[in-house]
Amino acid sequence: MAVVKADGYGHGAVAVARAALAAGASWLGVCTLEEAAQLRAAGITEPVLSWLHLPDEDFTDACARGWTCRSGRARTWPPCSTCPPRGPAGAPAPQGRHRAEPGRRPAAGWGELLDDAAKAVADGLAEVVAVWSHLAHADAPHHPTLDRQAQRLTAAWQAAVDRGLAPIRHLANSAATLNRPDLHFDLVRPGIAVYGLDPMDRPPGQTPLRPAMTLRARVALVKRVPAGEGVSYGHEWTTPRETTLALLPVGYADGVPRRMNREGRMRVLLGGAVRPVVGRVCMDQVVVDCGDAVREGARAVLFGPGTGGEPTAQDWADELGTIHYEIVTGIHGNRVTRTSAGSGG
Ligand SMILES: *Cc1c(COP(=O)(O)O)cnc(C)c1O
Repeated sequence: MAVVKADGYGHGAVAVARAALAAGASWLGVCTLEEAAQLRAAGITEPVLSWLHLPDEDFTDACARGWTCRSGRARTWPPCSTCPPRGPAGAPAPQGRHRAEPGRRPAAGWGELLDDAAKAVADGLAEVVAVWSHLAHADAPHHPTLDRQAQRLTAAWQAAVDRGLAPIRHLANSAATLNRPDLHFDLVRPGIAVYGLDPMDRPPGQTPLRPAMTLRARVALVKRVPAGEGVSYGHEWTTPRETTLALLPVGYADGVPRRMNREGRMRVLLGGAVRPVVGRVCMDQVVVDCGDAVREGARAVLFGPGTGGEPTAQDWADELGTIHYEIVTGIHGNRVTRTSAGSGG
């Protein structure tokens, strides 16, 4: 299952979904029903699992279109407006081929949920597809919680099997997919690794992965500026000498965090050299100190796989005290055009 939530971790959900399916993925994983709808609207018909829903979520559409949804609450089937209410409590009954994936560890209510599920399956109203969970410590492959979570999952799955249900079992995210083959069970759910980012944050050269996202911007304007001129809001940076400045039309509205240029530490690869961004990051633009001449229209690389000397998403994350997940998912909005490798975008 290729996880394409959050617009494919900022890479473009539909394009990533297509690439993943072409490469052999058999499932797609998303968070919300809206994300599932986006895949269907693009004509993708393969199985989609959606796993996070509000208590009053309407599953009518999902139901009609055969999506698989997680049921995380005991005795609560995904409610659907076409389903008749169950008794005076008004709780919706399983109907219309909801496909529920009980996602909870065995606890009070798990047996009841399975009893309900078994009955709904026997009545031809529902299909129980999987029993699954999500790891809290997968980036520490030998953390004791991994085995504990796996044991609880297996007990929950066994309880379903004991009721005559035949769900698959899944648990592994990227880190466990890479490091814990014993936890692969019937399906793995890699997200970040699909995008070539190492869940263990190993540097290039020590990881088998290559980052898929390169963030580029073309130089909108080049200006020769004398010494002593203030640049960008607040004039935090002043030209120390006569220099050439290049304006890149990308800013915090596009996911370049404003804090990225704290202490002037942001760099871009432009015109064959790594050059500093100077002054504050604006909503729509940043300024690069080029010293020598740079062409208007030239492409600057803000981050990429690192192979050309450009910074990486991991470098940005280190700078900001966060993780590369947050950097790539932050690149958003329709001002950022997505093109696939080789298309020269
Ligand atoms: C996000 C997510 C994944 C993928 O996690 P990665 O660390 O990106 O591999 C897998 N399963 C669930 C339920 C998720 O929410």
